[in-house]
Amino acid sequence: MRRTTLTNDFSWSKSRHEKFSECLRAYYLYYYRSWGGWEAEAPKDVRELYVLKKLNNRYSWAGSVVHECVRDVLLDWQAGRSVELADVEARARRLMQDDFRHSVKKAYWTQKHRKPFTGLVEHEYGEPVPDEAWKQNWETVRQALGWFFSSRWPALARSLKPAQWLEVDAGFDFSSFTLDGVKVFAIPDFAYVDDTGAPVVVDWKTGKARDGYDEQVLGYALYVSQRYKLPVEKVRASLVYLNEGLEQDVQVDLAAMEAFKARFAQSVASMRGMLTDVATNTPKDATAFPMTENVAMCVRCAFRRPCGRLEAAAQFQAQQQQAQGPAPTPKVA
Ligand code: SF4
Repeated sequence: MRRTTLTNDFSWSKSRHEKFSECLRAYYLYYYRSWGGWEAEAPKDVRELYVLKKLNNRYSWAGSVVHECVRDVLLDWQAGRSVELADVEARARRLMQDDFRHSVKKAYWTQKHRKPFTGLVEHEYGEPVPDEAWKQNWETVRQALGWFFSSRWPALARSLKPAQWLEVDAGFDFSSFTLDGVKVFAIPDFAYVDDTGAPVVVDWKTGKARDGYDEQVLGYALYVSQRYKLPVEKVRASLVYLNEGLEQDVQVDLAAMEAFKARFAQSVASMRGMLTDVATNTPKDATAFPMTENVAMCVRCAFRRPCGRLEAAAQFQAQQQQAQGPAPTPKVA
């Protein structure tokens, strides 16, 4: 069988932009140095970075399980199948129990598990997480699913005619578009056409509201408008906070899109400024990507050991816990 050679092509996403803004070293390790770490013959340090970059933390894990469950439920409704909340909850619980068992043994170093989940940074770095915190993590999932089922969304989804469904969390292989010659990944959790004929993009959130989410859904709006050849100003965008039971509409108009495109162009230019060759997406030397001075960023970073910030991050966390109690909950999807 012929093997396809993968190339590390430049692309843009909101999460890439965030990593670039938060810590250039993490950005370099994530998008460049770990490249090829899936190969059996990869150098040991590259392999290590690759395994580490795939790890979740417990908050992003809870968020991704909720997203997977809601995606499966929507696909069932699209296919006309009925779904009970109790079954979805039971499936989520089994999934998380399996994930936990896999992660606590650090089996991610030697075994494949499932694509959206390999393991947890808490286990990799032996972080002392009380049982109560793990239980709370499950509660986050249960609560989000419970609210979703009690919200207006089940009735809305079941009322859609086949032609009104656009896509449901279709993944990286499907949901991308090109902007100024750059491949942009934008994967809406749910996109459909409402009864007035307006396309709607929806993003489920399990964390609290924060800045930057508007930007993410503006990208989804642009994607949907390009893929389905619909005027962008007709797109409606919604952020739905499943744990808070809140919905927030995001203004999509030509002014908002122009502002988004300007910020996108600036972000791409900054990222390209860190390359020695734009055509081949070849980065400058590692020394051009400094470690962040904000050690608080390192506390949840999967790369803290190979980066050399293991001790500094642990000390920072201990000091913070002494001074203020537990570290704040990081943002999640
Ligand atoms: S440990 Fe800190 S400095 Fe190192 S890559 Fe992670 S965030 Fe950046």
